Amino acid sequence: MTALLLILAGFVPVVGSAPELEYGAVPEFSDYASGIPVVTYHHITNIQSKYSATPYRLRSDLQQFYDAGFFLILPSDIEDGLRRVPMNRRPLMITFDDGWEDNFRYTDSEEHLDPDCAVAIVNSFIEEHPDFGRGVVFFISWDKVPFGNNTEEKLNAVLDMGHCIGNHSADHLSFTRLPPSRYWEQIIPALNSFHRKLGLRTSQINVVAYPGGQIPRNSGAESTLAAMEYDGRPAVLQGYLVDGAVGNFRRLYETQGNEYRISRIDMALYSVPSLLGWSNIMVKSEARPNLHDDLPWRP
Ligand SMILES: [Zn+2]
Repeated sequence: MTALLLILAGFVPVVGSAPELEYGAVPEFSDYASGIPVVTYHHITNIQSKYSATPYRLRSDLQQFYDAGFFLILPSDIEDGLRRVPMNRRPLMITFDDGWEDNFRYTDSEEHLDPDCAVAIVNSFIEEHPDFGRGVVFFISWDKVPFGNNTEEKLNAVLDMGHCIGNHSADHLSFTRLPPSRYWEQIIPALNSFHRKLGLRTSQINVVAYPGGQIPRNSGAESTLAAMEYDGRPAVLQGYLVDGAVGNFRRLYETQGNEYRISRIDMALYSVPSLLGWSNIMVKSEARPNLHDDLPWRP
């Protein structure tokens, strides 16, 4: 009866809603949701394909995510305990895979971005909505010329704009077909290619999205990735799948190796309204009384 009244009052009870927590208490995993949706796009174009979204669709998705209370995070925010996320906002990471020209295109000169390319759409939305956070991730593979042309200038511009660049391998070979002992053949040469364009800024490239979207379980893949070094630093701090799931912040910290299995959702397959129905995305956090406090389970 109470539930019915709540529903009538416009209150939809969600299974697993956040309990009242005293600061410092560790929430029960089972009844506490801390989902981090990471969505991915590929082509942004009006040409329809299996891996494309139109510029109109991207603008509309950004608006819907914003209206639903999301706040843009970058991989570094996961390392940092999501401290930048205001307490009345939910984290969301937006990624673009492959580095197609429609992700970053100039019109006539290098002074004017094509307003329909991904980076221009994101930049103008962020400018108009400064409380949306700032920054998305471009995962670049080197099986083609990244961003089509002017790669050095564009990669640097992406970093200047406050976005993140991730490693999407040298040849875009599916990691499901490579034994973990050979992952380095795809990760290290890609970093060498980044280094030729970005020099010292290559140190900022420390997350990988696996071509093919998966790595095998129980194969030692995670420890292989954790041990890989480039220029005296870890080559891979985080690894991103495409599995249509929502990563869980606590599980990420509490289970070793899970930072190499961060879930992503391919937006060619889902709409924002469908995602908003997933309870592990929309359950609201009450665990942090103040924006500047650490999350209770931060290591
Ligand atoms: Zn790809």
